[in-house]
Amino acid sequence: MKLTPTHMFAHYDDITPAFLQSIGVRALLIDIDNTLAPYEQESPDERLHAWLGSLREARIRVALVSNNHALRVEKFNESLGLPAYADSRKPFKKNMLRAMRELGASPEETAVLGDQLLTDAYAGLRLGLPALIVPPIRDKTNLFFRFKRWCERPFIRRYARRSGWQEWMSFWRIKRPNDPNGK
Ligand SMILES: [Mg+2]
Repeated sequence: MKLTPTHMFAHYDDITPAFLQSIGVRALLIDIDNTLAPYEQESPDERLHAWLGSLREARIRVALVSNNHALRVEKFNESLGLPAYADSRKPFKKNMLRAMRELGASPEETAVLGDQLLTDAYAGLRLGLPALIVPPIRDKTNLFFRFKRWCERPFIRRYARRSGWQEWMSFWRIKRPNDPNGK
């Protein structure tokens, strides 16, 4: 199962239009919850508006593809007016394909952005799209979520070994790979 992120960032707005262009990406399918805003934040903030504005200027097309319900997605998208898909059941492909169709984007020029490997990364990677991953903005702390993060660890570690360890990767409770005290 392919789960290793293609690229990781500390925050969504570390992903610049220039970076996306450098890897040939002209369309982004973006998760909402914990990628762009915490669950409890109903509407986009200034920071998100600014980042989406910079993508728009660079003519990078954007769609929201969320597993959350329609009310949440519609409310969040109110001031954005983006193509948006709710109840997507990622890693299922259906809404990812629909979103690409609506954007007029081919798989060769599309990437996904999300915070979860089992849903967001897998949904993209199985379609051959690069998976851009950020740590969750404010993770749930219940046992199920802790289990999911534990499942993600080996893939984050693999990415870290390949691309260099970043301080924020300790979110997954992994240690610097070449740390003699680490595992
Ligand atoms: Mg999410």
